[in-house]
Amino acid sequence: MSIFEVELKKGKFVIPECLTCKDVVWPPSDYCSLCFGKVNWRKSDGIGKILEYSKKGNIFFCLAEFEKKIRIMGTLQVYSNQPEIGKKVKLDTCKVDGRNYNFTMTLV
Ligand SMILES: [Zn+2]
Repeated sequence: MSIFEVELKKGKFVIPECLTCKDVVWPPSDYCSLCFGKVNWRKSDGIGKILEYSKKGNIFFCLAEFEKKIRIMGTLQVYSNQPEIGKKVKLDTCKVDGRNYNFTMTLV
């Protein structure tokens, strides 16, 4: 299990950033996919923007982009405002359920 998954199980969203070229490495890995440098795991601010969204019944789903690179799908909690493409979301919970990642985001 990777550091990414260990932290995700605790509900923390950490991302690998290359120590050499400072690029965010995604999918998560211990080594940079560009320069093969070692990565530093840092906590993400968890703020992303909506790329796509859909609604099934009363539940919204969305695809959001974080750190200008990481694309994550999950359920979207909507309170007063309606989701729109480009609007900001905050990553709330992240869980590992077997081999599936389960993300919940809130519209901010
Ligand atoms: Zn690198």
